[in-house]
Amino acid sequence: MFHLIVTACLLADPALCADRLLPTPGPLSEAACIAGAERRIADWAARHADLVTGDWHCRATADLPHLALAEIAPGVLVHAGHPEPVSPANGGDIANLGVVIGDTVAVIDPGGSRAIGEGLYAAIRRITDKPVSHVILTHMHPDHIYGAEVFAEAGAEIVAHRNLPSGVERRAGVWAESIPRQAGALAMLGTRAVLPDRTLAAPEDMDLGSATLRLQPVATAHTDNDLTILHLESGVLFTGDLVFAGLTPSLDGSLTGWLDWLGHPPEPMPSVIIPGHGPVRMPWDQGTAPLRAYLTALADQTRAAIRAGEAMSEAAAHVGTDQRDGWQGFDEINARNAIAAFKELEWE
Ligand SMILES: [Zn+2]
Repeated sequence: MFHLIVTACLLADPALCADRLLPTPGPLSEAACIAGAERRIADWAARHADLVTGDWHCRATADLPHLALAEIAPGVLVHAGHPEPVSPANGGDIANLGVVIGDTVAVIDPGGSRAIGEGLYAAIRRITDKPVSHVILTHMHPDHIYGAEVFAEAGAEIVAHRNLPSGVERRAGVWAESIPRQAGALAMLGTRAVLPDRTLAAPEDMDLGSATLRLQPVATAHTDNDLTILHLESGVLFTGDLVFAGLTPSLDGSLTGWLDWLGHPPEPMPSVIIPGHGPVRMPWDQGTAPLRAYLTALADQTRAAIRAGEAMSEAAAHVGTDQRDGWQGFDEINARNAIAAFKELEWE
């Protein structure tokens, strides 16, 4: 199987160039890849007006750069992101990404950039040439969704919570500035946010042939568009960022809603959970305990500060700071969480 690789450079900074992989829905021979290349590059470039395309070639699957995937149950694979804030060193590869293989393939979060999505696509193609039929977005955050366009080009349907499109649209302008600043412009080259083809407001079983995924939209917690995905055959539960381990949790939804979700273990109890960040394959109790402790402290200390008549800025300077141990990127994320918690709880 062969894949079209084109060199693309930023129009605004022509010295910044990277190879981009342009996938197709079906497998290609080398001859078919070469025959269609010019037309496909022109189509792709029309959607990427910030880039200039240059040389291209067709490359065999075995020669593609690819992400590492670990099989954690039959047909369930995970790429473990770096459990740390986005930086030029990690290029935005911080979220845990899932792949479920049935008669077709589903991706659970395509990663934080075009390049990461391509690396995940290449990793899948090294294992199977089955079609990638679905991409499921666990929630709106860029480190989880920005690789989606690769899979849209490969023919996948992109599925998300009903509230995801409005959340992405509200924040897209800010992210367009902030994410390249954090990850580096080269790491984000060619990255475009794409919206879901279909959204859910109620649970749904997704049939992949020999695998079934139960998609469960969740009330506002980490964000207002969280979705969990249970692989019914193995009991593996992908929680997205409803569970963080190692990387400091970021509150972008509802603190009380998040604690409420954590207080009601899923039915049926998963065999293991795959958190959005941190070690994969943890039991529910062990995986959620540090997060519960942190969010409980955040809520308790915020309520105490409000009762004591503190202003938001005073509260934000100390709330949660005794919880720093064991969390990456703590000070900056906790300060934002303290403000979000104050705004939410001052009206209780
Ligand atoms: Zn998130």
